[in-house]
Amino acid sequence: MMIDLTHTLTTSTEAPMSIWPGHPTLEMTKVATIPEQSANVTLISLGSHTGTHIDAPNHFIADGLTVDKYDLTKLVGRALVVDVRGKKAREMITWEDMRKWEGQMHEGVIVLICTGWSQYWGKENYEEHPFMDLDAAKKLMETGVRVIGCDTLSPDNVCSPECKVHKVILGAGGMIAENLRGIEEVLALKDPFVSLLPLKLESCDGSPIRAIAWSAGVQISDT
Ligand SMILES: [Zn+2]
Repeated sequence: MMIDLTHTLTTSTEAPMSIWPGHPTLEMTKVATIPEQSANVTLISLGSHTGTHIDAPNHFIADGLTVDKYDLTKLVGRALVVDVRGKKAREMITWEDMRKWEGQMHEGVIVLICTGWSQYWGKENYEEHPFMDLDAAKKLMETGVRVIGCDTLSPDNVCSPECKVHKVILGAGGMIAENLRGIEEVLALKDPFVSLLPLKLESCDGSPIRAIAWSAGVQISDT
């Protein structure tokens, strides 16, 4: 079984995507069609942080690694879901909330923060998501974990322009996947693995991803 942790990249106005304030939206323009050129080809325009995507260290760290240089082996690995569902709008996720999983946090483990907030994707209150406390981010880095994923617009408070949690994680050479969906479904997987691979965009600070999770030792095609 495979779980798709990705929101659909869409230009729909009825079911729109949530976009970080000021970031580019998605545009798709047909530049060739089967009736006219015998093939469909689309020009795609979007921000490096539009939709389900990953932040490279270079997003906030001037000399930090970019998506094309990052060690891919760190972006495919064992997943640990930190279940903090029940947090309210703009409520802080503290180390106290996360320390229950501390024994399973170590280098190479990808931590998925499950707030359940992806249910509000495209809605006004998506921006009011719970966010990680600075101390929790620091403690998480002390465990050796470097890659995290969240089902929110950001692990930081959208209202806080400093993005301190970003700077702690990216500053430690980590990566942050944002706008994931369905993390709660990963809880049902035995021995879950996750893949958060970016496009190989030269010198780029972030990239859209097709995030998936599966059970180790189980054929992905098995349902
Ligand atoms: Zn981002």
